[in-house]
Amino acid sequence: MLMSKNCVSLVKHHKWIRPEGHDTGIKVFNCITKNKEPLIVKNKNFVTWYTCGPTVYDSSHIGHASCFMKLDIIQRILKQYFNLNLVTVMNITDVDDKIINRSNASKVPVQELTQRYEKEFWKDIEELDISKPDVILRVTENIEIIKNCIEKLMKCKKAYQAENGTIYFDVGAYSNYGKLQNISSENPEHEHEYKKSSMDFALWKSAKSGEVYWESPWGNGRPGWHIECSALASHIFGPEIDIHAGGIDLRFPHHENEEAQSCALHCKTQWVNYWIHTGHLHLKDSEKMSKSLKNTMSVSSLLANTTPQTFRMACLMSHYRKHMEFSPEFMATASTNLQNYINFIDTCKNYLNGLITVDVDNNAMEQLVQDSAEIIYGALTDDFNTPLVVKTLNKLVSAVNITLHSSKTHSSVSKSVNVVVILNLVLRTLNMLGLDLSYKKHSESGSDFVEIMNILNDFRQNVRQLGISKKDQQLLEMCDTVRHNLKNSGIILKDHGKVSSWST
Ligand SMILES: [Zn+2]
Repeated sequence: MLMSKNCVSLVKHHKWIRPEGHDTGIKVFNCITKNKEPLIVKNKNFVTWYTCGPTVYDSSHIGHASCFMKLDIIQRILKQYFNLNLVTVMNITDVDDKIINRSNASKVPVQELTQRYEKEFWKDIEELDISKPDVILRVTENIEIIKNCIEKLMKCKKAYQAENGTIYFDVGAYSNYGKLQNISSENPEHEHEYKKSSMDFALWKSAKSGEVYWESPWGNGRPGWHIECSALASHIFGPEIDIHAGGIDLRFPHHENEEAQSCALHCKTQWVNYWIHTGHLHLKDSEKMSKSLKNTMSVSSLLANTTPQTFRMACLMSHYRKHMEFSPEFMATASTNLQNYINFIDTCKNYLNGLITVDVDNNAMEQLVQDSAEIIYGALTDDFNTPLVVKTLNKLVSAVNITLHSSKTHSSVSKSVNVVVILNLVLRTLNMLGLDLSYKKHSESGSDFVEIMNILNDFRQNVRQLGISKKDQQLLEMCDTVRHNLKNSGIILKDHGKVSSWST
């Protein structure tokens, strides 16, 4: 076994305690056991979920957007597919070293800076159509709660004040450190200037002159980053949390430290029952996106070139735990997938409105819908496998398209109920994942646009019929010109014998 003096490298098999409570039927990857484990929530009536929120010192980039989008997708699955009553909490880090440095460098007061970037963060979240958390807690508004937690840790001797005035968590006094990484904290080194061990982390940082501070029994200062999440999450949920989420970057040291100090605080061996970590977003041929690497793209520049629905589709197409490679090709595939669903919805509507008449094999359709629904259920219970859901929907849509576009037309007016069942399954599944592609929604300009297009379509249909009956070439050419011009604006007009339809 390799031993290193500078890093903690001993492999230790930490135990994960399977909670008692309501088995949701879902299996979720567990970073402690490295296996997919049954998701058992403590209380059948509600599920507690905490997400680490942003440090508001700069604009959000699309790496953040993909993390919050993927977590939004998982939350929607839990709420809308599995009918779980999720209670979601998020913190906003509005005091921190990065904020203070940025404030000093830009000469913008801390509060003005954090308010500006928090406002921008929520605007991004809204534009991405990501649900806001039920409870939002700002660090600066909850300092007393955080101070109380530090006081408790001092009392039970899990924390100490160093010569520099800072309060540190004593990792050596806690036996389960390294749980989320499967490493051991045995033999911590003792080489730091002020700390007992270099692994010890700050709970309360003493203020340097001119810095923002709060008074405390340990002198003027401000809370460390890790303790704020432990204190705020415990304040709302108490000593046990079902799910705690964030990007994979946060697993170490942030989540490791949160777990350590919360277990010490609540005298428990397990605080969070399930950790959910989302994978990085990579720019193609690049390392992960981060501000320090200066390879970021802001959410506003993302939305200047793509729709929130396309970005959501891209997030659905990559598993939440895996790295997501952001490239124009990948976004184009996501956009094509969305357009295929929109075309499919129109095709089904045309079939149901009698514009397409075709023989449908009802038994085959029934089997198809049953198989697809089963695969979707299996995928969602298997660690939220959304790429398999998308693949299944694509196959289903393609199979129905082949049938509805086949040339075997018949004159019967009877309709296959299974086409409606399939259409509903596709719409319901997409809607559950946050994509509302219903007819009016996918026209960006709203319901007025739909009404105007219906009037235009009917008018052109009548003119075209007149042209056909009178064999008037000029009228027919005018109808073709309208169709051509609308196509340039992204609106497709189709003629089906004597009737016409339109789609975007
Ligand atoms: Zn956190």
